[in-house]
Amino acid sequence: MMKTFDQQRDIMIREHLQGRGISDQSVLKAMREVPREEFVSALYVESSYGDHPLPIAEGQTISQPYIVAYMTEALELSPTARVLEIGTGSGYATAVLSRIVKTVYSVERLSGLAQSARQRLDTFGYANIVIHEGDGTLGWPEHAPYDAIVVTAGAPDVPHPLLEQLAIGGRLIVPVGKSCEVQELVRVRRVSEHDYRTEYLCGVRFVPLIGAAGWSGKGPH
Ligand code: SAH
Repeated sequence: MMKTFDQQRDIMIREHLQGRGISDQSVLKAMREVPREEFVSALYVESSYGDHPLPIAEGQTISQPYIVAYMTEALELSPTARVLEIGTGSGYATAVLSRIVKTVYSVERLSGLAQSARQRLDTFGYANIVIHEGDGTLGWPEHAPYDAIVVTAGAPDVPHPLLEQLAIGGRLIVPVGKSCEVQELVRVRRVSEHDYRTEYLCGVRFVPLIGAAGWSGKGPH
């Protein structure tokens, strides 16, 4: 018999997340709570819990569950944190973040995606999320500084405005790569007003971050 979504979600938590080293209980709890099947298009609902990315509208993707968990864990979140997310996409990672922290500010470049994510998150009653349509490479200065910033698209370099909008002690997670196909996941920690510490975490593959402090958006993308 076909497994229910709840059963598939349990398997995802156990095998794809805990089985691969995710141990932060708040991350595991949040990912047990958010119904991933509601964030993928109807065509892919049956594959919602596979450990891979899936297409969403406008040529973008919903990230692989393990990567969402890994990035969320790497942000070192607390219940009082205010988080900025760049690249709302389906809103799945936004939903996961919102179950862990106080407020999530999320910026999406494509208005169709921003609108559908907003509607979807409203129907779940996730009230601590604010979505803004615009160029997230510039951050969202009005609500800065942020305790954590996560970018879910690949950047050519760490976007400068995001460094400036990080609180002292804050963490920024961003995929960075010189080609827009593959990137290295980078964690930057702001240790004081002028000092930042950078760590390289692992290789990843994201759609390009397009904007003033990202890729130009001309050419193949
Ligand atoms: N976390 C999302 C990932 C979506 S893919 C999910 O799991 O569904 C990355 C998203 O980044 C896409 O929706 C893309 O439109 C968006 N994006 C690319 N460049 C951007 C920019 N400069 N500002 C905001 N969003 C951007």
